[in-house]
Amino acid sequence: MRIVSLLLLNLIIISNLSAQINKKEQAIIRSVNEQNRYYTDLLKSIININSGTMNLEGVKEVGTMLKKEFEALGMDARWVEGKAFNRAGHLVATTKGKKGPKFLLIGHLDTVFEPDSPFQGYTMVNDSIMKGPGVADMKGGDVIILMALKALKDAGVLAQMQVEVVMTGDEENSGSPIALSKKDLIEGAKRADIALAFENADGDPKTIVVSRRGSSGWTLNVEGNAAHSSQIFTDRVGVGAIYEASRILNEFYLQLSKEENLTFNPGFFLGGTAIDFQEGQSGGTAYGKSNVVAQQVIINGDIRAVSGEQLEKAQKIMLEIVSQNFPGTTAALTFKEGGYPPLSPSAGNQKLLNYYSKVSKDLGFGPVSPVHPRNAGAADVSFTSGHVDMAIDGMGLSGADDHTINETGDLSKLSVQAKRAAVLMYRLMVGKGLE
Ligand SMILES: [Zn+2]
Repeated sequence: MRIVSLLLLNLIIISNLSAQINKKEQAIIRSVNEQNRYYTDLLKSIININSGTMNLEGVKEVGTMLKKEFEALGMDARWVEGKAFNRAGHLVATTKGKKGPKFLLIGHLDTVFEPDSPFQGYTMVNDSIMKGPGVADMKGGDVIILMALKALKDAGVLAQMQVEVVMTGDEENSGSPIALSKKDLIEGAKRADIALAFENADGDPKTIVVSRRGSSGWTLNVEGNAAHSSQIFTDRVGVGAIYEASRILNEFYLQLSKEENLTFNPGFFLGGTAIDFQEGQSGGTAYGKSNVVAQQVIINGDIRAVSGEQLEKAQKIMLEIVSQNFPGTTAALTFKEGGYPPLSPSAGNQKLLNYYSKVSKDLGFGPVSPVHPRNAGAADVSFTSGHVDMAIDGMGLSGADDHTINETGDLSKLSVQAKRAAVLMYRLMVGKGLE
């Protein structure tokens, strides 16, 4: 009796699902299930290859392995040399089809763990949780891209589709000049209509990224008059560089810290009579005495904003604050060129999230909601901003503690993520089942 009712329940669930899922989509799901083992093994092999950004050989080795995988799917794949921007390079793979929207799929081959890190190779914490360098950020996401494309191939639709995959070799530590290191990514975005990025985002498969903050740097240089401390606050001497620097930071905090989604962090402060700042080492030395008015200060910080307008507005206010000097001081604030741009929230991105959420519900994986932009760091997808109609990120492998030696990924989610990605792409191609 019990067995019969369970069977009945199963039948009801299956028929409910298949009402939303057509034949092609069933073929996609079948392929992901069948290929799960193969791609889990592939993930293990690429995690065991060190691909810290500056281990150029290792990054290229991972790229070469994945290049073969794309070629096996009938795609054209090429390695873009990274010499010109002092990195390993990127892997680019394309289909030759003409049907549906043009997709750009974004991954990266590098990790933050260089060969001298104690964190090398994978271990299994239990049946599904893998501990390993880059398992979540983002070799898991790279493998999900392959699983999804393999499933689309097995369903007989990949060859008709217009897909370009860009897996960069320097996401964690961008090559320079950035115009060269991001060239292939940006050109791919210009060709594309829709960008799908497979970072792990906040590690929760119930959320997706529709907006990421951009990140760039700033430097504040302050000068004062060196004099005996007994003369501070006189017209001739003024207040010195350290008081002026303190005023500026305090005003930044008072005027801008309440701005939603904006942060700016002074991470380095050096001041005194004479300073020697060593940029390459993010350090330096200062000399000063308590009875001498400080002559020099240097401060380095970052700034993160959710849109270009927010960044510009904040920069204007900061420059205004810097210009209102205390007596006897001067200050200059410079913003670094070429940081990571923001992925601004847009109606298109929100729409794409809604499509993804519908797919997820139809597949029985529940609805998906947006990640708060404060919890989404800068990433490669931001370079598509303004070039594509729609973009989302966070379609990769859920995990935890990325960028630390405790990074984990949940391998049981590989197939879930691949199914959601492949069905989304299929529906976008045929223009059905989206709403
Ligand atoms: Zn990443």
